[in-house]
Amino acid sequence: MPIKFPFSRRRAAPADAWTKCPSCDHQVFNRQLDRNLRICPSCGHHFRMSIGERIDLLLDDGSFEERDAGLESVDPLGFTDQKPYVHRLEASQVKTGLREAAVWGLGRIDGRRVAIGIFDFRFMGGSMGSVVGEKIARCFEAALEERIPALVISASGGARMQEGTLSLLQLAKTTAPLPHLDEAGIPFISILTDPTTGGVLASFASLGDVVLAEPRALIGFAGARVASGTVGEELPEGFQTSEFLLEHGFVDLVVPRTELRATVSRLLQLLPAAPVASDGGEERAWGPIGVLSGFAQRLGGAVSETIGIDASTTPTDGNGTAPASRPRRPAGERIADSGPSERPADSGPSEPGA
Ligand SMILES: [Zn+2]
Repeated sequence: MPIKFPFSRRRAAPADAWTKCPSCDHQVFNRQLDRNLRICPSCGHHFRMSIGERIDLLLDDGSFEERDAGLESVDPLGFTDQKPYVHRLEASQVKTGLREAAVWGLGRIDGRRVAIGIFDFRFMGGSMGSVVGEKIARCFEAALEERIPALVISASGGARMQEGTLSLLQLAKTTAPLPHLDEAGIPFISILTDPTTGGVLASFASLGDVVLAEPRALIGFAGARVASGTVGEELPEGFQTSEFLLEHGFVDLVVPRTELRATVSRLLQLLPAAPVASDGGEERAWGPIGVLSGFAQRLGGAVSETIGIDASTTPTDGNGTAPASRPRRPAGERIADSGPSERPADSGPSEPGA
């Protein structure tokens, strides 16, 4: 039961009607913030967004269909720090109304279908445990299966330490599907929002075909002090911001939230998933290798000899990995023909006498 003080009888506006902008200290009326896509009207600071707000921002109305909504974390290690892990999970579930720190599903952007994964930082700092990793991996696998672009909006403190090594395995799990998307010519657009750090940045989030970031988002692997201590030198001011990373080539575009949907829509138009060729093989619509092999196919065998790419269609080995072997095999044979016996030094490590 709440304690009532005599002087609190006069009803003031509820304390949570206003939010103080951490960037300019301006008091912003919450409703105004919501109307303004959670951007500070006075300085342009981008406040964090919930998953629902992200869906409203990016996807066509009513197009989102959540998948694997029932996946829920367990506590395989029986982990307790200041509180048991299960209590932390419950508290986050009550606070956010979510089961986990990420949600994935299928939706449309200006009519184009996408597989989309979205993080919510309010749920245990958007940390990636087994369930979050599984959801992101399934998002990529669905993109591959349905041949639609994948889109992930990250907001995460990194791996979920309460799951120990299991959380670190998510780095591999979420990254593993990406080469298959690449081989199949399915684009992955990664959107980094404040903050994207740790194991999320160190895995799939920095591997987008296009990496977008919201203005002034904190993006980095470790905290500034740890990073500075590790390399043993002073790091430049703001080295973990979107703008700094754009300047240094880790981010392709810093996009204000007001333009995010239009930018993603334009990218989806420019990077459609490659069509499946009529003979059942996969044909790349874009990308450097796609451009080369497309070029080779148009100009015929002479060019493919020159650039070392076999333009003929290789039947898949049933594992979805055939395209990777396509450019390499002829080159390997040519080297072998020129006399492997002349080059014993190359096999050095296995022959200690050489
Ligand atoms: Zn502000």
